[in-house]
Order: sequence, then C-alpha cells, then structure tokens
Amino acid sequence: MEAMNCPRCGKVFVKIVEPVCDACVKAAEQIFEQVREYVRENPDKKIADVAKECKVTPARVLQYIRDGRIEASGGMQGEVLCSKCSKPIIIGRMCEKCILETNFKVNDMKYEASIKNKGRVFTTRRT
Ligand SMILES: [Zn+2]
Ligand SMILES: [Zn+2]
Repeated sequence: MEAMNCPRCGKVFVKIVEPVCDACVKAAEQIFEQVREYVRENPDKKIADVAKECKVTPARVLQYIRDGRIEASGGMQGEVLCSKCSKPIIIGRMCEKCILETNFKVNDMKYEASIKNKGRVFTTRRT
C-alpha cells in the first residue's frame, strides 16, 4: 500500500483500486449520474448542450458513450461515429458490423497464432 496525492484534488490517500481518492471517485460517479439523468430527461439535446448543462467537457460526455455507460439520444444523432467506418452509432466505439468484422479477424488471428505456437512447441520438443 502506498500513500500518494490524489491527482485530482491533491488529498493524500492510499491507492487501492482507483487512481484517485474516495471523495473524487464518488464525485466522478455523481457527475456521471447527473449526465445520465440529464440525457434521459432531455433526449433532444446535443452533446455540447449536455456538457454545458452538466458542467463537464463534451469529451467526457462522449467518453461515457464510448465506454457504453450511456446511449446517445436522438439529439446526438450523427455526433457519435463508428471509429472504423464513421457510420453514426448510439453507443460504444464501433457499429455492429465493424464489431462483428473485428471479432472475426481477432478470432482468425488467435486461431493462426495457436496453430503456429503448437508447431513451435512441437519442433522445440523434438530438437
Ligand atoms: Zn481526490
Ligand atoms: Zn462501422
């Protein structure tokens, strides 16, 4: 256990899980709740409006959506784009199609790697 200064408020705390102190973790959660509530009650607002109203940066609001914590509302239509094909999405980083494609590729790569690794193990054992 190491004591350190909270990078957010400067308070000395012991780092356990979160990189900021308890008070800041709670504060961050409260901000998130506030943003989520606001989006739910004002589905016609754009990201910039939500950010302004909740006193956070638009990047923070976008991050919540990217992290899958809130869904983009109707007012945010076209503001959240798939990081691969730039198609509008409402939550996460990629559209369903790109997620599927990426998963297939990852699985293919894993499969190839596992074959290669098996081969390598086999040859090293034999030599
Ligand atoms: Zn703090
Ligand atoms: Zn896409």
